[in-house]
Amino acid sequence: MSNELKLYNSLSREKETFQPLKEGYVGMYVCGPTVYYDAHLGNCRTFISFDVIYRYLTHLGYRVRYVRNITDVGHLLDDGEDRMLKGARLEQLEPMEVAQKYTVGFHEMMRIFNVLPPSIEPRATGHIPEQIEMVQDILKNGYAYEVNGSVYFDTLKFMQQTGLYGTLSGRNVEELMAESRDNLKNQSEKRHPADFAIWMKASPEHIMRWRSPWSEGFPGWHLECSAMSTKYLGAEFDLHGGGNDLKFPHHENEVAQNFGSCQCKGARYWMHTNMLLLNGKKMSKSDGNTISPHELIAGDSAHVTKGYSPMVVRFFMLQTHYRSTLDLTDEALQAADKGFRRLMDGHKTLQSLQALPDAQPGALDAELLELMAGVADEMNDDFNTPKALARIFELVSRINALKGGQLSLDQVAPDTLDRLKQLFQEFIFGIFGLQNDDAADGDDGTLDGLMQLIIDIRAEARTRKDWGTSDKIRDALKALSLQLKDGKEGTSWGREV
Ligand code: AMP
Ligand code: ZN
Repeated sequence: MSNELKLYNSLSREKETFQPLKEGYVGMYVCGPTVYYDAHLGNCRTFISFDVIYRYLTHLGYRVRYVRNITDVGHLLDDGEDRMLKGARLEQLEPMEVAQKYTVGFHEMMRIFNVLPPSIEPRATGHIPEQIEMVQDILKNGYAYEVNGSVYFDTLKFMQQTGLYGTLSGRNVEELMAESRDNLKNQSEKRHPADFAIWMKASPEHIMRWRSPWSEGFPGWHLECSAMSTKYLGAEFDLHGGGNDLKFPHHENEVAQNFGSCQCKGARYWMHTNMLLLNGKKMSKSDGNTISPHELIAGDSAHVTKGYSPMVVRFFMLQTHYRSTLDLTDEALQAADKGFRRLMDGHKTLQSLQALPDAQPGALDAELLELMAGVADEMNDDFNTPKALARIFELVSRINALKGGQLSLDQVAPDTLDRLKQLFQEFIFGIFGLQNDDAADGDDGTLDGLMQLIIDIRAEARTRKDWGTSDKIRDALKALSLQLKDGKEGTSWGREV
């Protein structure tokens, strides 16, 4: 393996050596949340993945400008109702109150999972003039047409003239026609089913509306990301990311809009994260196959037997490569819980190791150095966090053996031990973004053991019908943000968030 960073580019469908446009700098855009409902764990997976990518690029010495937007003007639903407005109607709030409420919730969720804030977090509603300008440019270049105050991207013409449409998603025109899911209500206005709205005339009841040369209305679904990435990162920039469910039509249309407005290429590397599943099926609100981050952390869901700390969840996500699907099951989380504890303990043990000044570096020293180099090599291979973690666990085994006396520190150069300590610090906390949390503090499972004792005492009290003691225990735990959950298989506990 080499030292250069390789990443899988969805555009070429190949792993490529990463070459930024400007030496030393990286411009990165990731599609942010739509703030009309609470972020779910699937969203969290995508943002955690890009957080690690952002952290690693920074670690490599790049100055990264990371732009992650907030979609606060709704995407159109198939039934034509704006999601933001639907949220506002259901909750009897101003659309901007809905956006604010869920933006605050989203930031809190990112904080809990230790996701770093991006360099710029632009809002779609704060960039209406830029979006209108982009529509004007696309019209001027002949890749869009106006009908009754709405403006549509002329996909067929764009396809015929540039041959570019479908490159990212790998679809042909027939498929695109079949799959096009723009606002059905206005289907008749479009010249071609694959055309999509870049400006929509607002119906009388539509609250979020802005003046434009064509009508009072609002920008189309995909325009904000083209306009904001261009504004903050330039007409051509390094990286664009999002979940792979956004590849089509969202990202395909972004590429078309960028090219249609200024013959600009937009992103040079496209990166897509794979989906989070729950018990083997795609996490989905509609069929109840979902668990919220709060429920998972508190253990307040039929899908889990106990609560898992945010850091265990983050670790669990890093154990799978970002391009593979990840199945969330209670079993897998339990294994992650153990793995995370082992990692944190390994780190603690490493801190306690003292170098021997007159050590004679031998085969063990060479082996440690090789394993250490391997950690970065794995990350350079398309941010392979599971393999990098596997190398770190091999190092943990050596660390435990050094502590236990099966291996000897007189074979390890003081400098090697220092570098090992630095590597653990940098990778575990700096790049993987894990934090030592108390639930994972110590492999003896102290908290788990104490909680089990309390649960037993409470169960005994309840058998005696001593409700006073039972309530006292519950209330005292609640004050400590610990929650008890009574189920068929007994009582479990979790943390409240
Ligand atoms: P949204 O708020 O729906 O626009 O989604 C925000 C980000 O989360 C996008 O990049 C989506 O592709 C991503 N996303 C949505 N569902 C999942 C999932 N189940 N697993 C991983 N990422 C997802
Ligand atoms: Zn986007």
